[in-house]
Amino acid sequence: MRVLLLEPPLWPYETPAALLSRALPAPVLRFSSLIRDQLDRGTPAGIRIRERIESGSLVTDDLARGAVREHLSRSAPTAFLLTGFPFNPALAAAFDTDLHERGTPLDAVLLLRPTEPAVDQFVRHRATRRSCPVDGPQVYGPNPAGDPCRTCGGELVQRPGDHPEESRRKIDGISSTLDGIARHYAAQHLLRTVDALPSAEDSTALALAALRAGRPGPDARPTGAVL
Ligand SMILES: [Zn+2]
Repeated sequence: MRVLLLEPPLWPYETPAALLSRALPAPVLRFSSLIRDQLDRGTPAGIRIRERIESGSLVTDDLARGAVREHLSRSAPTAFLLTGFPFNPALAAAFDTDLHERGTPLDAVLLLRPTEPAVDQFVRHRATRRSCPVDGPQVYGPNPAGDPCRTCGGELVQRPGDHPEESRRKIDGISSTLDGIARHYAAQHLLRTVDALPSAEDSTALALAALRAGRPGPDARPTGAVL
């Protein structure tokens, strides 16, 4: 089964992608891993991607599409659970073309739509994080005792992006991006939308039920329909 998973980053530890992958079973294709693979192998695309990352630019749609297409050509998976790609409706349309050329269209697209309890859990978790004032990207867990940083000895601080309002804004932004991509697939009757709950396991159970419920195809037309 080829499934596209539109998954917001709500869960700090194991995510529905990992759990679904085992249950289906279908290997997870994470877009970030496909990009890392291009960088590690130093492919021509990888070199261009590295240049963009080092100059602080986003990976272009063409490079992103190329990285996914190259992976599919090389490993030719018959089943997969793709996540992190595509990241806009235009790229989704281009990806449709690539999959149809390969004769491997998507069977379903799953949108995990954030519920308030899941967003609240995400916001609270991020609010507990502390980071080193010198080595900014390094993020630590809660620091109730107010211990100094193990690297520089300074006071650990909360990054602006971990403030509750910022975390909420981040999830709202991601959620509306995913909704936009989901609409592309809804038009093709591929979309199943399920609640993203605080528990990754519960969210996965809903997602599996939605996938197994199937979708109404031509055969599901009521008998007696006008011919
Ligand atoms: Zn430090």
